[in-house]
Amino acid sequence: MAELRKDLVRDNWVVIANDRALKPSDFPINRNGVNISGNNTFCPFCEGNEAYTTNELSAFRKDNSKPDGPGWTVRTVPNKFSAFQLQGELDMVSTGIYKSCNGIGQHEVVIETPEHGVEFHDFSVDRIILVYRMLKQRYRELAGDSRIKYIQIYKNRGLFAGASLQHSHSQILAFPVVPDQNKGIPKYFNKTGQCLICDILEQEKEKAERVIYESNYFLVLCPYASRFSYESWIVPKRHTEHFSDISDEEIEDLADVIKGFFTAMLASLDDPSYNIMINTAPVNVPYQGGYHWYMEITPRLLIANAAELSSGYYMNPVSPEISAQIIREKMKKIGSRE
Ligand SMILES: [Zn+2]
Ligand SMILES: [Zn+2]
Repeated sequence: MAELRKDLVRDNWVVIANDRALKPSDFPINRNGVNISGNNTFCPFCEGNEAYTTNELSAFRKDNSKPDGPGWTVRTVPNKFSAFQLQGELDMVSTGIYKSCNGIGQHEVVIETPEHGVEFHDFSVDRIILVYRMLKQRYRELAGDSRIKYIQIYKNRGLFAGASLQHSHSQILAFPVVPDQNKGIPKYFNKTGQCLICDILEQEKEKAERVIYESNYFLVLCPYASRFSYESWIVPKRHTEHFSDISDEEIEDLADVIKGFFTAMLASLDDPSYNIMINTAPVNVPYQGGYHWYMEITPRLLIANAAELSSGYYMNPVSPEISAQIIREKMKKIGSRE
């Protein structure tokens, strides 16, 4: 099992996989260049290869098809190389000044399509709906275990976004501790009694210079202090804390928004690597107001440099106002052609 160690300098946690070790040549970036498992290698996520994954946790299946066999549309399995296991209790250990705990949690892979080579941004709206229904179902299931404190849903597409397999998939990491990343949210709520994300929505709609698109239920925008060029958020207009609060109607609207946004983003940026992250409220902790779930999309056009790693201050060479204008115009252009 993995171990979470407290980084006392940065006041955050690091996950250390202490039961396996990659050799220098196992890393995707080494002296021979860069390498991502692609079309030429065996793919365990393809339909027909179910025996090469761990046993499925959940799947949307055609009638009469059997678990861990073909006939599925979206399939969730535990990550074969998971550093986390949902076993036993949290064991906090102190060694002198250091603090660590065991990796109680779960790492799941949501295989978004049985077909190899069809990418998320090329999915039909119907397939995107299925993927988000599955993510909601898994979130609900994991939130039911009191040992889980935070559920991170994410997607890595392309080598520069950290992907190691080409077959389209999302991942879910359920942690026993709450990451410290978005501490501005409770801080703002404790000071003002207001939801920061609701206040951001209100201010962004006024001037609309960073707004890319607005649908019935969502606002797409480039955030005021974007860390990455063309960083974009898809934010539900209804104040809802957990991603699993999303309704069926909202999932259908979200799928339309995703389709339109990703088509425009991919075309504007010439097929970049990208990450998708869902930020949401912690689970199974004393209630803290002010959380409001949203999706964060970060195209990975630059690699973080030393100044960014050391200070934590990212340097963004494209203003969010220009980023929003470029994607907004592309989205309009593509929309008018359809
Ligand atoms: Zn495949
Ligand atoms: Zn809110």
